[in-house]
Amino acid sequence: RAVNRKKPDWLRVKLPAGRQFRSVRQALARQSLHTVCEEANCPNKTECWSTGTATFMILGDTCTRGCAFCAVKRGNPEGRFDPDEAQRVADAASAMGLEYVVITSVTRDDLPDGGAELFAATIRRIKQLNPTPGVEVLIPDYLGDALDTIIAARPDVIAHNIEVVERLSGEYRHPGFDFDRSLEVLARVNRDGDRILTKSSLMLGLGETDKEIEMAMQKLIDVGVRILVMGQYLSPTRKHVPVLEYIRPEKFDQWAERGREMGFDFVAAGPLVRTSYRAAEAFVEQNKN
Ligand code: SF4
Ligand code: SF4
Repeated sequence: RAVNRKKPDWLRVKLPAGRQFRSVRQALARQSLHTVCEEANCPNKTECWSTGTATFMILGDTCTRGCAFCAVKRGNPEGRFDPDEAQRVADAASAMGLEYVVITSVTRDDLPDGGAELFAATIRRIKQLNPTPGVEVLIPDYLGDALDTIIAARPDVIAHNIEVVERLSGEYRHPGFDFDRSLEVLARVNRDGDRILTKSSLMLGLGETDKEIEMAMQKLIDVGVRILVMGQYLSPTRKHVPVLEYIRPEKFDQWAERGREMGFDFVAAGPLVRTSYRAAEAFVEQNKN
């Protein structure tokens, strides 16, 4: 049953402010780009932007799938996309002085390559910047040629999210997704990616049990995932799946510890933690290992 009460204190968010914050926002508006930081009104914006990390959303704002927990608009963009977006993302990253750039997208089943070539072009453009920022891509469930295209562009990190535990995957993710296929994406990157790091995220608070969480973590370890992210699911609107549980911060700390014991090299876990939160730090830590 859904929790009906007010959000607990640990989920209250500080409002971002300040001059640097405004200049970042202006740089984005000039290039007419979308960031997850803004669109999802991410609670970590102040921290991320002031430490040189932002997440760009390429390939438009309309997703051909539509998962029960996701606020992104669902529809059919009918093959439309802007090939110049790769350069505009690189220009914005340069203007914002970013040290670590995360690129993600909606799922584009209407495009023959799912948008993989635009991801690759964006990675290449960012890699040409001087100084070169770290680049992480959070990709849809690409396999085959689409995944090869991404790997060939040599991002530093490839992330693909399993989002929820296996039992809930069929219920809450769009039927186009499949838990095992998502694991295969990550396994393939580890097999063919030659030092590209893999990462995945899990949302909690949707009625999963501890045992199911641990099983999902083990499956990620088994396919070689090195970086794990765990955060609280927050329902975007009343039409989306309700939150079934607010997980306490101490419990997230326990999961982070458990994750490290199980063999992940870096675990970010906490109520407000999102896929790209502390992404740069995870990457730097990894490179020390
Ligand atoms: Fe942006 Fe990700 Fe940081 Fe949120 S966690 S502000 S989406 S970079
Ligand atoms: Fe949201 Fe991704 Fe699902 Fe599309 S595929 S609805 S962007 S979670």
